[in-house]
Amino acid sequence: MALTPEDVPVATVTDGSRVVPLESGSTHSLTSEKDMIKTLLHECLQAKAFAYCPYSKFRVGAALMTNEGNIFVGCNVENACYNLGVCAERTAIQKAISEGHMNFRAIAIASDLEDQFISPCGACRQVMREFGTEWDVFLSRPDGSYLKMTVDELLPMSFGPEDLRKKKVFSVHNGC
Ligand SMILES: [Zn+2]
Repeated sequence: MALTPEDVPVATVTDGSRVVPLESGSTHSLTSEKDMIKTLLHECLQAKAFAYCPYSKFRVGAALMTNEGNIFVGCNVENACYNLGVCAERTAIQKAISEGHMNFRAIAIASDLEDQFISPCGACRQVMREFGTEWDVFLSRPDGSYLKMTVDELLPMSFGPEDLRKKKVFSVHNGC
């Protein structure tokens, strides 16, 4: 079901390229789901403006919120060697990880598609899943409407780090 965020104040975010405390250093200022959604939808739209996509002409922005309330934004970054391009979602996640954050509450994604909720590619779903299955993914449209899903819903029966530790019928000891 498509939802439209209600008109609630957007938290002040002064720098989308780094860890951004939402209010005077507080990382717990966004207590409500409604405020979180509103902020993430706003931030992913802003992030989309920085997309480097000279080949696909397909702009994507993402905004990731940690459990502590910090936001990391990302855009797609393409390359003349096409297969080196990176999606907005992974850009945001890698920025967060590289700055010491790995507990994620939600990510919102934006594109220019008029009538369709932007959906993460398979690679991004797997990268999201690395950091848990029960956090939220908001697939948005430019008009601010969105679909709320979980990582598990986007990638059911997934393979993750826990699986590597499960009982096996054969144990490899030589370097694996
Ligand atoms: Zn992707």
